[in-house]
Amino acid sequence: MIGTVERAHARIDLAALAANVRRLAQAAGTARLMAVVKADAYGHGSVPCSHVAITAGARALGVHTVAEAEQLRDDGLHVPILVMGPLTGAEWARAAATGVEIVAWTPEAPAAAAAAGIRAVHLELDSGMGRLGARPEDVAGLCDAARASGVAVAGIMTHFATADDREGEQSGFFREQLVRFRAAAAALRDQFPDAEVHAANSAATLRDPGAAFDMVRCGIALYGCSPFHDAPERDGLSPVMSVVSYLAMVKTIRSRDSVGYGRTWRTERGTRLGLVPLGYGDGYARNLGNNAEVLVGGRRVPVVGAVSMDQLTVDLGPESADAVGAPVVALGVQGADRITAEELAARRGTINYEITCAVGPRVPRVYVG
Ligand SMILES: *Cc1c(COP(=O)(O)O)cnc(C)c1O
Repeated sequence: MIGTVERAHARIDLAALAANVRRLAQAAGTARLMAVVKADAYGHGSVPCSHVAITAGARALGVHTVAEAEQLRDDGLHVPILVMGPLTGAEWARAAATGVEIVAWTPEAPAAAAAAGIRAVHLELDSGMGRLGARPEDVAGLCDAARASGVAVAGIMTHFATADDREGEQSGFFREQLVRFRAAAAALRDQFPDAEVHAANSAATLRDPGAAFDMVRCGIALYGCSPFHDAPERDGLSPVMSVVSYLAMVKTIRSRDSVGYGRTWRTERGTRLGLVPLGYGDGYARNLGNNAEVLVGGRRVPVVGAVSMDQLTVDLGPESADAVGAPVVALGVQGADRITAEELAARRGTINYEITCAVGPRVPRVYVG
């Protein structure tokens, strides 16, 4: 068996991605779908995922940086790309050369965009996110500056702070932001008749057709992760990423033996211990030690001891017949069971977004479907 398996890889199911794109396009109704592929498509690989998303019906791409947009253009993606993050010095000229659209929220930005030769801007309103975006009292100044600059205004946008809280105490604020933005956008439509109005992230797209406006901007749900910290299938989503490694060593240890750095786990009985060459250097977080399970031989086994940079250890149980070379699923399906990004996120005290983004460059992406 030795040498027949890869140390670790992230399997990216492009058929599942395409199905999620179609699911979101359907939820968006007549609104266009922008596939948000920032941060290397949330760890899934932005170039292949962008091609699949466009083929499956997405009409535009969203990224955070100009470098991310350049990578997509270099690979032949000629659809509209919106850079949603702030630009620094040299990025203004590069944004123009790349033919991307950018986001503007200060009165200086439209003129700077026009001077740099940038194709178009989207005016971002802060309707309650409290992050990028013009505050309500500054919107008139931003609009005056945009008209005076002569730059094309291709969008009027905002971003929701609590769309992911479908049933909880923050769900009312989503509605409040939606009402505020709807009124603000309606008041600006006459000034910028060519602008597309857009606000919805994945959560808003799935929970409220009334938030779709002219375009939706979906990231996490494309990748089959629930924007509601829920089971993905509840919203008709199929997880795209799996992380698979293998048993590199199996040995018997005795009762009261300790395992790993800091001796954070000791056996209560003799058992078979498995070593998996996957660690926090690959994005399998250290705080999953003694706090997670992996799938081996079609069953769940606990991760025991500390997770190291390059290795983790599992308790296969005294009766285990698992052999060196057996596949180990840290994220994804084996047999009838599945470990989701939502499960790992709950164990790590974070959100599913961080789980897939964390899978490091040492883990090759293998595209299937
Ligand atoms: C990341 C991002 C999105 C996508 O959000 P998801 O929750 O992943 O769907 C949409 N809009 C903006 C401005 C973003 O930064």
